[in-house]
Amino acid sequence: MSEERKLICSKCGAELVKRQVMFSYMRRTFGHEVPVCPKCGKAYISRELAEGKMAEVEVLLEDK
Ligand SMILES: [Zn+2]
Repeated sequence: MSEERKLICSKCGAELVKRQVMFSYMRRTFGHEVPVCPKCGKAYISRELAEGKMAEVEVLLEDK
């Protein structure tokens, strides 16, 4: 589905690797695979992903 694109850390210039990262939002925690810099550990989270996940979490909260 999604095309694999090489992402480079703007800080160290290292190639980002896919890692399972835990997010917490509104006291809920969820995991998602995102590109992470192996050097500085900075996770690259696209706006689309962030907004998509937030929307998902908000739906879950409303559904309770
Ligand atoms: Zn980095």
